Amino acid sequence: IKKIVVLTSGGDAPGMNAAIRGVVRAALSEGLEVFGIYDGYLGLYEDRMEKLDRYSVSDMINRGGTFLGSARFPQFKDGSVRAKAIENLKKRGIDALVVIGGDGSYMGAKRLTEEGFPCIGLPGTIDNDVAGTDYTIGYFTALETVVEAIDRLRDTSSSHQRISIVEVMGRHCGDLTLAAAIAGGCEFIVLPEIEFNREDLVNEIKAGISKGKKHAIVAITEHICDINELARHIEQETQRETRATVLGHIQRGGPPVAYDRILASRMGAYAIELLLQGYGGRCVGILNEKMVHHDIIDAIENMKRPFKGDWLETAKKLY
Ligand code: ADP
Repeated sequence: IKKIVVLTSGGDAPGMNAAIRGVVRAALSEGLEVFGIYDGYLGLYEDRMEKLDRYSVSDMINRGGTFLGSARFPQFKDGSVRAKAIENLKKRGIDALVVIGGDGSYMGAKRLTEEGFPCIGLPGTIDNDVAGTDYTIGYFTALETVVEAIDRLRDTSSSHQRISIVEVMGRHCGDLTLAAAIAGGCEFIVLPEIEFNREDLVNEIKAGISKGKKHAIVAITEHICDINELARHIEQETQRETRATVLGHIQRGGPPVAYDRILASRMGAYAIELLLQGYGGRCVGILNEKMVHHDIIDAIENMKRPFKGDWLETAKKLY
């Protein structure tokens, strides 16, 4: 291979810039030509790409977000839209595409691979919900952000003997909530992997109050319930002031922590190694600190992320 191209897609995550840098610098060091596509699959379809050199990624390792931009482009599910995308790549003589994104972005990469254009996927999302890897790029930074927010809520909650509900991102994956709840010392944890029973939660909070707890922090993953409604219900049942906080997009921003930068750099360089070894249609992961790769189709269709049940058991002992 001689020419490759890189894009970032789906929800942005801290460390995406470091991953682009890793791909670009590793490719250049192997004598490859590298292009960057703006705004994910949308820019690929619209043929918006530019050649990158080593200075294109200067001062990027510490910057949050993605300088290439990202986009949601549901039209990419349409075969004729992808055919145009492949045509754009082929007319420039590009041999392979590196996609940095979450599982939605992997679906796009899987389709392109099936249609004859080799892609390598790098897991870039704060949700840590991608199969075939212990951790995704951006997760550790978001974790720090969430824990800092919980620390702040704890200060004010304990001063006012208040109950705080904090909603954490993660879509269908509770990893971010669970890890942040342990690190933030939350009393109650509600995760998408475990069926939610509102009355059980209320009873647990009541039991905590009668044990003499001055405050309670409930960490809950997004999309489980309306947390403002939940707060009103808990307040009614416990007679304790209850506040809901949705952390929202704060969790996506900020400079990546060192681990995310290292993960992004390693994964970026590994993607180039794989391409030079002749691999296509693979997704990169880290398992037990080692770089690994899986068939991207197999990862999407058959691999499941293990739920950290033992973490939850530990957390409950520490309530
Ligand atoms: P993430 O990558 O963070 O999971 P999304 O789920 O929004 O984010 O996916 C990002 C983009 O990937 C979508 O906007 C779309 O362009 C592309 N994509 C998602 N699902 C598919 C699919 N089934 N086929 C082709 N492209 C897809």
